[in-house]
Amino acid sequence: MSDDWNMRTKLVHGGTRRSQYGEVSEAIFLTQGFVYDTAEAAEARFLQAGPDEFIYGRYGNPTVAMFEDRIAGLEGAEDAFATASGMAAVSGALTAMLRAGDHVVAARALFGSCLYVLDEVLTRFGVEVTFVDGTDLDAWRAAVRSDTRAVFFESIANPTLEVVDIAAVAEIAHAVGATVIVDNVFATPVFSRALEQGADVVIYSATKHIDGQGRALGGVILGTRDFIRGTVEPYMKHTGGSMSPFNAWVMLKGLETISLRVNAQAETALAIADALQDRAELAQVIYPGHASHPQNDLVVRQMGKGGTVVALDLAGGQAAAFRFLNALQIVVISNNLGDAKSIATHPATTTHQRLPADQKSLLGITPGLVRLSVGIEDAGDLIEDISRALHIAGEKQ
Ligand SMILES: *Cc1c(COP(=O)(O)O)cnc(C)c1O
Repeated sequence: MSDDWNMRTKLVHGGTRRSQYGEVSEAIFLTQGFVYDTAEAAEARFLQAGPDEFIYGRYGNPTVAMFEDRIAGLEGAEDAFATASGMAAVSGALTAMLRAGDHVVAARALFGSCLYVLDEVLTRFGVEVTFVDGTDLDAWRAAVRSDTRAVFFESIANPTLEVVDIAAVAEIAHAVGATVIVDNVFATPVFSRALEQGADVVIYSATKHIDGQGRALGGVILGTRDFIRGTVEPYMKHTGGSMSPFNAWVMLKGLETISLRVNAQAETALAIADALQDRAELAQVIYPGHASHPQNDLVVRQMGKGGTVVALDLAGGQAAAFRFLNALQIVVISNNLGDAKSIATHPATTTHQRLPADQKSLLGITPGLVRLSVGIEDAGDLIEDISRALHIAGEKQ
């Protein structure tokens, strides 16, 4: 892959490895292991595998390597390690680098499973975790210490779409020598410039926009070659969280079209946010890419566009939110995001159901909040579907 290529070229051609057959589309090497010509060759490969040499599926695979190289090129990272899911990437990156006695600072507004890993798993092994309001730079400054090994946050928080200033938090973290780990799912690899803004490690759930068509689980950890091959790979290859070749192939093909998809999704998301500004049924329309978002300047600076997710807070609370969801005809009720199909989620009763009430209100997860992952359908059709469902949600019962 040429470093001079622009994004859309890298997405189609980056990382491609052709077999002796010269296939056009990337091959799926659905094999656990690899044959060695001689015993000596096996010994040599176990001692030091070359860049095109593989040993066992848990360690690496040609299709998985194509995916890793393609996304590393896209993100501008030295290297990448593909994982079985987004959570294998989050837990793998953290567990690979931390040890008992280390301190971590994390934003409080996190995906439920990320919160579980930080709050319930790492702490069991003697890692101390301090949670802060990710948008409050003074809180980050107050929380970091000389023994802080890592800071962790979602660049755009799920589901309230608060934005963390990557460059500013990185400066605070780097002043104490901490590694900056960014869960960048909502930014998508297309809008991300996280590494140049100061992140050391970037993580994606490939399940979301990278697949983009709701088929397979996957994740990826991106960082320096030293971190990926020296810290992440030894941990992941021995603990079993590697990506399967079939899923890597799905994700590779997803990367080919991701720029077209997420740019279209972001445009439609903005059109939806715009169309809903004055609706009486809504207490709030939250879209980071809309001028009405309190952090819109930061969003434009950090990622250009506002991403593919809009949050709607229905004035009539949970009953209105449920009426809205049940009245939608194109948008489906589910809990994935980044899909070609538009998806609506009621976080308070599904993805964030287990969060205590005080935590929900602290994070802004109100009873009326609906998370809308905008797909690639016709924008006019979506606006009509949402408008009609809002009207039904607002009718007196
Ligand atoms: C979905 C998601 C994850 C977990 O990804 P999986 O592929 O479901 O394991 C982690 N972080 C964020 C922000 C997510 O949206």
